[in-house]
Amino acid sequence: MSMRLPVSNPDNKLPNIAIDGPAGAGKTTIARMVARQLGFCHIDSGAMYRAVTLLALERSGESAVADEGTAYLIARDLDIDFLTGTEGDLRVMVQGDDRTEQLRSNRVDRYVSVVASMGDVRKELVAKQKELAEDGGVVMDGRDIGTHVLRGAEVKIFLTAAPSVRVYRRLRQQRQKGVHLSWDEAEDTVVQRDRIDSTRRISPLKVAVDAVTIDSTHLMRRDVVSQIEFILASVIRCPNGG
Ligand code: C5P
Repeated sequence: MSMRLPVSNPDNKLPNIAIDGPAGAGKTTIARMVARQLGFCHIDSGAMYRAVTLLALERSGESAVADEGTAYLIARDLDIDFLTGTEGDLRVMVQGDDRTEQLRSNRVDRYVSVVASMGDVRKELVAKQKELAEDGGVVMDGRDIGTHVLRGAEVKIFLTAAPSVRVYRRLRQQRQKGVHLSWDEAEDTVVQRDRIDSTRRISPLKVAVDAVTIDSTHLMRRDVVSQIEFILASVIRCPNGG
């Protein structure tokens, strides 16, 4: 599919694309594919919450990961970078080291939603996310991107899939890393994260009023990407209205 670029933008800024949705919906993979296709920058906001959680676990252990003061300081001093690996994959650098694999560990999965519900942590990370997207041309995936972080994003997608498909994808993702979870273990972390993420007080996961919902249960990845590109093309207007 060929794309028309947003020539009507008065600031000459490229549009931003927000992709939100529950755990295991495939947001990060799709965001990555869309960004590559358009030559945009992909920001995985979940990786930021995961990075704070990983560092808090390493610093304080599981018993103290919920300490808000420590988590806030880690978020404040977080140095995170998103790079493209040799196979076009997303590599996440945390404090200068490639921590991509550890960020997606089951241990981080278990605690990340607790850390992400802390107001001071969110404030720090949201400020970084806004800064990264201020020049446009960003595809950012997360839970509150369309509702809060990039409220003005030109395209907002709520990407979802049937719960069993989301659990299956999580299992498959872990298996590819050599981690064998039982169905119940994978289901527990997905269900628990969704519950905490959608019921927390600050910026809970919900569908933005101006978002387009895409249910990927029966869709191939490339079909989801095409749908998003189609939506982008429909919001881009030429100066002459053509
Ligand atoms: O997207 P991912 O599954 O990696 O996100 C991990 C966790 O980070 C989510 O379960 C949620 O608790 C938190 N998160 C968030 N807001 C975002 C992105 C992620 O609260 N924008």
